[in-house]
Amino acid sequence: MKFDEVLHWLRETQPAALARLWQHADAVRRRCVGNDVHLRGLVEISNRCARQCTYCGLRAGNEALPRYSMTDDEILQCAHRAVELGYGTLVLQSGEDAGMDPQWLADVIRRIRAATPLAVALSMGEWPPDVLALWREAGADRYLLRFETADQELFLQVHPPRAGQELKRLELLRALRDLDYEVGSGVLIGLPGQTYAELALSIKLMAELELDMVGCGPYIAHPATPLGREPAGAGPEQVPATALMTCKVLALARLACPHTNIPATTALATIDGETGYEAGLRCGANVIMPNLTPWQYRRLYEVYPGKVGVMDEADRHLEIRRRIEAVGRKVGSGAGDSPRRTIARMSRTACAGGGV
Ligand code: SAH
Repeated sequence: MKFDEVLHWLRETQPAALARLWQHADAVRRRCVGNDVHLRGLVEISNRCARQCTYCGLRAGNEALPRYSMTDDEILQCAHRAVELGYGTLVLQSGEDAGMDPQWLADVIRRIRAATPLAVALSMGEWPPDVLALWREAGADRYLLRFETADQELFLQVHPPRAGQELKRLELLRALRDLDYEVGSGVLIGLPGQTYAELALSIKLMAELELDMVGCGPYIAHPATPLGREPAGAGPEQVPATALMTCKVLALARLACPHTNIPATTALATIDGETGYEAGLRCGANVIMPNLTPWQYRRLYEVYPGKVGVMDEADRHLEIRRRIEAVGRKVGSGAGDSPRRTIARMSRTACAGGGV
C-alpha cells in the first residue's frame, strides 16, 4: 500500500469504508497467520527506570512511585504459572533498570529455559549489543523495543537520551535482527505532537524493518509525567489517541506486515475495556498478552493509569479464553513463533495485502 493510501485510511471516518478496511485486514490475517490467538504471559519484573521519557509513569523523575524488582525465584514461579495456564511464551518486561546485572538476567533466562518449554521474549529497553548477545546466548528468543514514533525529532523530545549512553533505537533493532532474535517494535498512537503523516511513515517503517511482532497501543496520559500534565495535543494534524485510531493502525500494520504477530494490546483493552480485545482481534491482531505479574507489584508497574487487570484481582485468564472463542477464534498452542521468519527461511512467498 502506498504512503498516500495509508494516510487516506488514517483520516477515514465513514463507517462503511472502515468496515471494508477491517474485513480486508481480517482476511489477510486469516490467510497469513491463521485463526489461532497466541497467549503470552507478561511479567513486569522491575519498575526501576533510569530514563526520563515524558510519556511514561515509570520515568525516574516520578519520585512518588515506590520501586520494586522481582527476585529470580518470583520470576520462576510466574514461568510455572504460565505453563499451568497453557501459555507458550513468557514476556519479561521492565523499566530501564540501570542497576540490574545483565548476568543475573542471563541466569534467570537459563533457569526458565531449563525448567519449562516456554519461549522467552524480553522487553527491557535499550541495552548495548554485547548485553543483548549475552541474553540471546542464554536462551532469549525474542525482543520487543518499540520505536514509538518514526519522527526522530519527536522521539528525542519525548525520550531524552540517557547521560553517557549513545544507543540509537533503530540501530538496536538492526542489532537484534543480526543476533537472530525475533524482533518486535511499534508505536504509541496519539502521542501529543504526532501527526497523520508521521503515523503513515511509522507504518511504512514497520514494513521496512521486517518485524516479527508489531505492538501498537493508544497513548494514555499519566498525571505524574510532563506530557500528562500538558493539555492534550491539539490541531488538525494531531492524531487522536482513540480506540478507533488504534484499530486503523492495527489493520494497516497487518496489511503492511502480513505475516507478523500483532497483539491486541492492554492499552487498547484499557481505553475500550468492554470490547478492546475483540475489536483488535477483528481488525488484524492475533496475539493477547495476559498479565502474570504478582498482585503486590502489578499496581506499581504504572506505565499509564487505569491499566486493565490492575484495578480488580479477578482471574482474567479464563475470561480472556472465553472472549477469544466468542469471536470465533481459537487459543493457539505452542510458542506461536514468527510466521514471517519461518517463511523468510523457506524463501519468500507472496501473501501481500493488495487493494482494499
Ligand atoms: N522500558 C521498556 C519497556 C517499556 S513499557 C522500553 O522502553 O521498551 C512498554 C511500552 O509501554 C512502551 O514501549 C510504550 O510504548 C508504552 N507506554 C509507555 N507509556 C505509555 C503511556 N503513557 N500510554 C500508553 N503506552 C505507554
